[in-house]
Amino acid sequence: MTQPVAKATLLVVDDAPVNIRFLAGVFQDEHRILAATGGEEAIRIALQENPDLVLLDIMMPQMDGYQTIQKLKGDDRTKKIPVIFVTARDSQDDEARGLDLGAIDYITKPGSPAIIRARVRNHLELKHYRDTLERLSTMDGLTEIANRRQFDTMLDQEWRRGARASSPLTLMLLDVDFFKPFNDHYGHQAGDDCLKAVAAALRGALLRVTDFVARYGGEEFAALFPGLDASGVPNAAERLRDQVQSLAIPHAKSSVAEHVTISIGAATMVPHRDENAQFLLKAADDRLYVAKKGGRNRFTHVTLEGVVQE
Ligand code: GH3
Ligand code: MG
Ligand code: MG
Repeated sequence: MTQPVAKATLLVVDDAPVNIRFLAGVFQDEHRILAATGGEEAIRIALQENPDLVLLDIMMPQMDGYQTIQKLKGDDRTKKIPVIFVTARDSQDDEARGLDLGAIDYITKPGSPAIIRARVRNHLELKHYRDTLERLSTMDGLTEIANRRQFDTMLDQEWRRGARASSPLTLMLLDVDFFKPFNDHYGHQAGDDCLKAVAAALRGALLRVTDFVARYGGEEFAALFPGLDASGVPNAAERLRDQVQSLAIPHAKSSVAEHVTISIGAATMVPHRDENAQFLLKAADDRLYVAKKGGRNRFTHVTLEGVVQE
């Protein structure tokens, strides 16, 4: 026997209400059930509710199940949601086609409630493990914000998105000032606690849902601001700096302030297909160096124009 999974959200898609009622009955109080009577509606609900699993009928007027799964699998936001076909079409060709399109399982109607329940339970359990693994591989263990690997993924994604939309992208590198003396004076555990607090403050200072911050390594953080142009950078950078300073973590060994502070290097440009995102990163790193040399507890910023050849 497998362990029961926590209450999950299932999206049942079927043009016949009687089938929706049947599946809703199968899961009763075990899971939360959302229902859609067509493909378009299913996609809208999947985007809004991010269900744990979709139970999808094949034969539906307008958009059928095959078209629906193709849309779901073709969108980054919904492609990881497992889809099980629940259908009256029972030929091996139909089943093969469904699985080829990315369905994780195929159940023929009318099915036995016990078997449907068991299969769904197994798939939910696998999804739970996949989600856990993904979280662990993208999250920094100490600060519980995104890690460097995830930052690299996001930078690449936002760079390409910015290039398509000709929309600016701002990248900031943020580094704790005099953190080595902080560790030496207060101890490694206090250093760890400080990094956790700084990470939470930085995340709390982000305004838009698309803004993103990660632990880049050691006592260095990196942030992405899609759509933020040069005119908005001073406000954003000062807000991040303020948030950290107002944690008011005492720092007796800092020569710039009585509390823990950060320095920020920021770079803005409109991404371009012919250019590499590393270019923006390098520019922000150069600015961080300048902010450190200039006295720390400050930001410096550069706007990069057009395609740059080196
Ligand atoms: P600057 O103002 O120029 O940034 O100087 P700094 O002392 O902050 O920079 P430096 O790079 O010399 O020192 C970084 C220190 O951060 C050294 C290392 O012991 C500490 N550190 C890195 N990662 C961790 C961590 O996970 N936990 C703790 N407690 N300390 C860390
Ligand atoms: Mg430092
Ligand atoms: Mg450093």
